[in-house]
Amino acid sequence: MKIDTTLVHGATCFDPKTGAISTPIYQSSTFRHPALYESTGFDYSRGINPTRTELERTLALIEGGKYGLAFASGMGAISAIIKLYKPGDHIIVSEDLYGGTYRLFNEYYTQYGFVFSWVDTSDTAAIEAALRTETRAIFIETPSNPMMKVTDIRRCAELMRNRGGHLIVDNTFLSPYFQNPLSLGADFVIYSGTKYLAGHNDTLSGFIVHSQDQYEEPLRNVQKSEGACLSPFDAWLVLRGIKTLGLRMERHQANAQKIAHWLREHPQVEKVFYTGFTDHPQYDLSASQSRGHSGMVSFYLRDARDVEPLLRKVKIILFAESLGGVETLITYPLVQTHNAIPEKMRLAAGVHDRLIRLSVGIEDPDDLIADLDEGLSITSV
Ligand code: PLP
Repeated sequence: MKIDTTLVHGATCFDPKTGAISTPIYQSSTFRHPALYESTGFDYSRGINPTRTELERTLALIEGGKYGLAFASGMGAISAIIKLYKPGDHIIVSEDLYGGTYRLFNEYYTQYGFVFSWVDTSDTAAIEAALRTETRAIFIETPSNPMMKVTDIRRCAELMRNRGGHLIVDNTFLSPYFQNPLSLGADFVIYSGTKYLAGHNDTLSGFIVHSQDQYEEPLRNVQKSEGACLSPFDAWLVLRGIKTLGLRMERHQANAQKIAHWLREHPQVEKVFYTGFTDHPQYDLSASQSRGHSGMVSFYLRDARDVEPLLRKVKIILFAESLGGVETLITYPLVQTHNAIPEKMRLAAGVHDRLIRLSVGIEDPDDLIADLDEGLSITSV
């Protein structure tokens, strides 16, 4: 079956009991036992819930994994996966990634003895140089957030396979529609489902998808014990969002491509970061491991004084912190998504006061360009 069909029909297609086309929302915290030592398979919703199960099975299917686990947010999923490791273990992490992930690792997990190295993972030699005997995992975002650097998934997977470690890929930026890291050798795929999967800026969610049985039980135990599981209603919202993922991703991509090229010609824009440019330094690598480029575009303005008026003047484009929804959002990483990252590291990654990130939505691209044009028209230059 092709992905567009799987996206629409999900794991079960319709409710076998009633024929309902839309998965029922089992808004129940607990389930009646038929008798002592008997269960319908559903006992208590922190552990398992039928709506969440349908979503988890759907995600495993579209990602090509054996199972999926749904969490209350992307951070819930990322926090859960780290529980597979123990104090003293070393994890190599992309230096250019979502600031919340940096905060979680650096402010919390380091306190418990986990050791992280922050590396430009688009540079394979830098990863190899960072490897230690205690290295148990590489955690990457590719394309990276917000600088759109591409990491070689196959090569990272090989490096970890050779030493019995794991490659964990946060695939939020591309979604399973454009990239399937498990098929390239990755061990775990992470999503902030809040973004393209749900797609409508209306719910938080997070996922882990894995391709072997071995870690299912430990991960389900973390989900059940810590309780950061996705609610039935939110699971249903994500299920509904997934049905249109293919259509949305194609439109996000087409709009972003148009806007990236327009921005590139704008006199107030110094540089545009977009993996869809054929002269992107890792265009060939990107083409070898992904099928598209999503709606993410970052750019440097020439003058930092243009930032404030741009954020204030745009009307259709909304100044807000997130990505992957149908509405176009403009973000200022310095003070929003990446403010938890120390200045030195942030600047080394290229996140400075002239960087703007766009999550291009599915509106008419001409309206978006006119909005950006207006936002840039009353500026310093
Ligand atoms: N991963 C990436 C790439 C993100 O951009 C985000 C949030 O912006 C997260 C993870 C965290 O996801 P959530 O906000 O759903 O907790």
